[in-house]
Amino acid sequence: MFRASASRLVSSRAYSTGTAAVNGFTGAIGNTPLIYLRSLSEQVGAQIFGKAEFQNPGGSVKDRAALGVVRDAEEKGLLKPGGTVVEGTAGNTGIGLAHVCRAKGYKCVIYMPNTQSQEKIDLLCMLGADVRPVAAVAYDNPVNYNHQARDYAKATANAVWTDQFDNVANAYAHYVSTGPEIWDQMHGRVDGFVCATGTGGTLAGTGRYLLEQSGGKTQIWLADPPGSVLTSYIQSGGKLNERAGSSITEGIGQGRVTKNLGTFIEHVSGAMTIPDEKSIEMVYRVLDQEGIYLGASSALNVVAAVALAKKLGTGSRIVTILCDGAYRYQSRLFSKAWLKTKGLEGAIPEHLKKYAVL
Ligand code: PMP
Repeated sequence: MFRASASRLVSSRAYSTGTAAVNGFTGAIGNTPLIYLRSLSEQVGAQIFGKAEFQNPGGSVKDRAALGVVRDAEEKGLLKPGGTVVEGTAGNTGIGLAHVCRAKGYKCVIYMPNTQSQEKIDLLCMLGADVRPVAAVAYDNPVNYNHQARDYAKATANAVWTDQFDNVANAYAHYVSTGPEIWDQMHGRVDGFVCATGTGGTLAGTGRYLLEQSGGKTQIWLADPPGSVLTSYIQSGGKLNERAGSSITEGIGQGRVTKNLGTFIEHVSGAMTIPDEKSIEMVYRVLDQEGIYLGASSALNVVAAVALAKKLGTGSRIVTILCDGAYRYQSRLFSKAWLKTKGLEGAIPEHLKKYAVL
């Protein structure tokens, strides 16, 4: 029965059939496939789907937010032709913004913590962004990368700080694109939606749309990496702890409730923390069993989707986000030496170790 109902959602066509041509880079953002994760679903007796956000033209879920905040600034008259977009970002938002800015003719200035990989800095430079690595200090420090981005924009003519964490145009982009796409692709039945948060835009915007469409029936769960405060915040009913611990995942985990998440957090059904051991194992398992090459935040989301499927029971239909591919992290995730430095060598099952070729 479960197999029959899953197959109704899954197209029998060999390739995704796009419709009309799209208008430039920004027109290619969104409309990503929803992938039925067959072997994982069969193992848990549920239906687990991953939204293939790595198929966005800039390679991640953050292309949607980047376009959303730029459009918002244009509509409000804050960003005019030839203007400058300024953002504080450790990665994917910056890459999305750099693409969108090139495509629309804006300058792009990115403040980022100086702990980020050279690959990301190089890519941003190649996309024409003005990259400014700054000391990696906490949010409450006035020289935190976000505050520097804000101050630079304030002091520069025709420049806008897009403020991805607290500008709700970010969540709105998911409310008008990711949510409706998932609802349509699932033919109007989603029992559970779960994903990790950085800014919270994906969870809040997608979650709100699914909750509205399902009349409150879809459970929306938050998944956290170690070192994030959100799981304990939600489980304790609003107690904000100090950040403690760290994770190999990038782009997710938070020390505060951002405005994007804050608009929605009261509707979140529950939260779970996923240990790095499980996330890294899932990077390898999804590659081995499904043939999909995922970054660690996506793998964390898949672990959380499996856990939510078990919670919601046999036949439940769960959706999560496949945020980006492993390409931006492969020198780490597929390196035996790096895994060893993180104490994660033992997390990879023997039969999957063959994939750690670097
Ligand atoms: N995964 C990755 C790899 C990311 O870069 C981000 C964004 N920082 C997220 C997940 C989380 O998305 P959001 O900011 O919408 O919460």
